[in-house]
Amino acid sequence: LDKKSFREEAHKLVDWMADFYDNIETYPVKSKARPGDVIRQLPKNPPIKGESFDQVFKDFESIILPGMTQWQSPNFHAYFPANSSYPSVLGEMLTATLGAQCMIWETSPAAAELEELIINWLKPLMNIPANWTGCIQDTASTATLAAMISAREQKTNWSINQNGFDNQKLRFYCSSETHSSIDKAIKVLGAGAAHLVKVDVDEHLAILPAALEAAIEKDIKDGFTPCAVVAAVGTTGTLAIDPIDTIGDICNKYDVWLHVDAAYAGTALMLPEYHSMIKGIEKAHSLVFNPHKWMFTNFDCTVYYIKDEGTLIKTFEILPEYLKTSTRGHVKDYRDWGVPLGRRFRALKLWFVIRDFGIEGIQTRLREHISYAQWFANQVVENENFELVIEPALNVVCFRMTTPEKAEDQLDQLNAELIGAINDSGEAYLTHTKVNGKYTLRMVIGQTYVQKHHIEKTWRLIQNKANLLN
Ligand code: PLP
Repeated sequence: LDKKSFREEAHKLVDWMADFYDNIETYPVKSKARPGDVIRQLPKNPPIKGESFDQVFKDFESIILPGMTQWQSPNFHAYFPANSSYPSVLGEMLTATLGAQCMIWETSPAAAELEELIINWLKPLMNIPANWTGCIQDTASTATLAAMISAREQKTNWSINQNGFDNQKLRFYCSSETHSSIDKAIKVLGAGAAHLVKVDVDEHLAILPAALEAAIEKDIKDGFTPCAVVAAVGTTGTLAIDPIDTIGDICNKYDVWLHVDAAYAGTALMLPEYHSMIKGIEKAHSLVFNPHKWMFTNFDCTVYYIKDEGTLIKTFEILPEYLKTSTRGHVKDYRDWGVPLGRRFRALKLWFVIRDFGIEGIQTRLREHISYAQWFANQVVENENFELVIEPALNVVCFRMTTPEKAEDQLDQLNAELIGAINDSGEAYLTHTKVNGKYTLRMVIGQTYVQKHHIEKTWRLIQNKANLLN
């Protein structure tokens, strides 16, 4: 591509992008590709001579696109939203155009300052304590890892940082329902998987504080050192919410770091009526949430809030000669706020989203999503062939098909067939979880532009597929 053709192709591409969004419902929501389908169609070796963009784009359309699941389809109801939006896409285009490496303030002052601004904008809106600060990271997994390493360093007075891991006695805690990124963080920080204690949950699948305290006390008696608790505000399966206030008291009593994983549900903190989800947050040490899930900002974009930035920086700071600057100490150099040195300009797309939607616009969309989920839950309750498996939370409804004649394992099988039939249709995409051992369908309603009629259509599809199985 030269200068002239870049301009021409870029114009065509933008038209293609707008058409793609206009027509997104004509694509199967879940890709129909089978293992090997994509790679089989592509040459084994890269081209020796450059090819025309036209040819590359034709292959994108005919080979790559059919192998993509349409996460931006309003009929996407699987996993969790990983939504995007028009302003977010435009912001991402500019980020790629600028191609800046935003590792320190000097390498792009605006990137560092916009990041700081947005962290501060969101704080009061989301009821995060005023004395906390934060940064934007790639994923919740990275932020949780940063939290766990910071907790480990603080607990061992930075001895592991200096001398390596000579202490295998640290203990970490989360509920049996929390996300696998916690397991991964414990693996990576070298504490050993056996040192992550999975605490029992109540009937709402939230952690039992009494069980947590009993586990901490037992560990102390057995010679272990409790280091950190990860509480979930919105588990991945059912959006269960751990009681931060009570857990915070326990953590403070035993001098344990409390990290709050609000990766998915954290966006609902933009609504004042959901601030109670993090009641007691001032007792915690850190919180993570993903604008790249439910806040209309395309992947990746993770907000990591921390009570004491000094702990974080002391944990990660490394200062090679080439990164020493005269502004050090007067500006925010985010390179030491987590694992990666290199940083993308992620704040730009989030800034575009917030300015384009406005806070009211974001709140309106979130409330709409939640109201659609309530409508869907009501349909399930009123239909004798279906049942809610657990009380719906925010924009996730956990439900299943039921029939009095079938035993539990047959119901599991029936529901697995149902979800297969729905997803094979290409008209909607749902995924499952297990709730108290029951195979459960999850209806997640969070795609940016989803409307009530999409939910009505998917509900009809689910009933039709269920009727064929009955
Ligand atoms: N925590 C929770 C509660 C999640 O739902 C998820 C994603 O499913 C994660 C963490 C991991 O998020 P990320 O992909 O940003 O690491």
